[in-house]
Amino acid sequence: MMSITAASHAPGLPCSLTYPDAPVGSLLAGAAARYGDRVAFQHGEQHLTFTGLWNQACRFANALRDRGIGQGDTVALHLPNCLAFPVAYYGTLLSGATFSPANPLLPPRDLAAQLADCGAVAVVTYGPVAKALEGTGIGTVLVYQPAEHGQLDFEAFHADSDDTPPSVSIDVARDLAHLAYTGGTTGRSKGVRLTHRNVVVNTLQYACWGSGCVPTVDDDGNPVLDQIGSEEEWPIRLGTGIGINLTPWFHAMGTIGALNVSVLNGGTAVVHQRFDPPSYVADAERLRVTTMGGAPALFAALLACPEFHAGDLSSVRTITSGAAPMPHEMINALRRRFPDAVIAEGYGLTEVTMGATLSPTWRSGVRKVGAVGVPTFDTEVKIVPAEGGEEAVGPNVPGEVCIRGPQVMQGYHNRPEETAAVLVDGWLHTGDIGVLDDDGYLSIVDRKKDMLLYKGYNVYPRELEELLISLPEVAAAAVVGRRSPEAGELPVAFVVRAPGHEQTEAEALLDAVNKQVVPYKRLRELHFVDAIPVSAAGKVLKRRLREQLT
Ligand code: AMP
Repeated sequence: MMSITAASHAPGLPCSLTYPDAPVGSLLAGAAARYGDRVAFQHGEQHLTFTGLWNQACRFANALRDRGIGQGDTVALHLPNCLAFPVAYYGTLLSGATFSPANPLLPPRDLAAQLADCGAVAVVTYGPVAKALEGTGIGTVLVYQPAEHGQLDFEAFHADSDDTPPSVSIDVARDLAHLAYTGGTTGRSKGVRLTHRNVVVNTLQYACWGSGCVPTVDDDGNPVLDQIGSEEEWPIRLGTGIGINLTPWFHAMGTIGALNVSVLNGGTAVVHQRFDPPSYVADAERLRVTTMGGAPALFAALLACPEFHAGDLSSVRTITSGAAPMPHEMINALRRRFPDAVIAEGYGLTEVTMGATLSPTWRSGVRKVGAVGVPTFDTEVKIVPAEGGEEAVGPNVPGEVCIRGPQVMQGYHNRPEETAAVLVDGWLHTGDIGVLDDDGYLSIVDRKKDMLLYKGYNVYPRELEELLISLPEVAAAAVVGRRSPEAGELPVAFVVRAPGHEQTEAEALLDAVNKQVVPYKRLRELHFVDAIPVSAAGKVLKRRLREQLT
């Protein structure tokens, strides 16, 4: 059976790490001791230092405990990225309660359904939707500015509490740290159960990646990294320096990236609540950021922004992308803009805490355009037939991506049947179609759910999207299927014209793509749109496009 691990890729570094039995709150405890007055989060002119965050988080934890909230309870955070978020996040975990993030853009009815599903006893939300929560049975509603009449103000709630670290005994292998809801771009949104160990392991898997470091503990038992490889060969330490990213923190990439890896490594995370490319670039320049991270939709918007090309971004050393496929054209454009930076793509899903693979970022590591890298430490990837079965197929054969490792979830919350359908002998069936090449690099071909069947042939929309995006007339594209009684599904494209190509005709683009593919993959229709709909986490909302075809 072919399954791939990081072993063959990391010269001189073990492919397996020893993870301390530490709860998530210990990441911040150790960082506060090491980094003290260094800025952990910067939002405009306001900031939070490591010590400030630690003290506030302890106060928040004690305020929750004074209300009887702690182990066995769930606290939901329904917030945009803001300085209150890390306080409420770490405070919740230090109290022993479970953190459950909610997309701040969820309509009130969906929010109420999610909060009922996760059984939250308290929610930290922002003003405008607080009223919609009335009647959900949630006892404590903490409103982050502006406070609404009759509800508790977030700051006032914990301002006068004790900042002594609460004493809570956490079983890291069993107690839930995160109850995170999957993106919900397809199907029903489900709660993913992640223990403290899951979260600390995934944090360390990424913090150590490319850094030549292994985890150890400080004198108080808090996780810290030990450099064993030379910094010459291992130049990247994710989460250090100044990172600017727009990944929402309710999504795994944001939570693990900004709240865990960056905190552990003493990085400064620059906060932007709303994506406005020119002010993003201005902040990146002003603060001399070293890392930019986000979903491809973010980079697409930046590449279309003149300030991004004109600004002095020479401080940028690392660019990380994930959450959705990065078109080859985009990687090449970023390489031209940042010839000296390391561009790394990772792949994962909420069900593996955040991530399973990443490009090899060490000096001798080979980064292949189009691949999402190799499995990280202690992680195995295998490809099985898309039709079903557990037996791995050989290299270069597409099939369903399966992942096994210590970051894989415990299961879906209160959904044993859905859990049994995706977790088989420790292997998580991801629902993504991928390929492992001869060197063990994973490429994501498409999502199983997005694959089209044309007269029994598999058509992967991503291949057609790549061809469209490579045309100069096209700024963005997405392909979905139109139901057809004769053929099954017909590939249909939605396209955003590139600036200066407003007159481009559909026929010309259809011809340009169709002459490059075998007949069964040909695009049958092409519609011009102003924008491709994407979720807050940067995933194309194909369901919305399909709805336009009915
Ligand atoms: P979520 O659970 O919201 O993080 O969504 C996970 C899904 O996002 C995966 O199952 C993939 O379909 C997709 N995804 C994440 N990272 C990538 C990537 N680098 N390339 C392609 N698809 C990705």
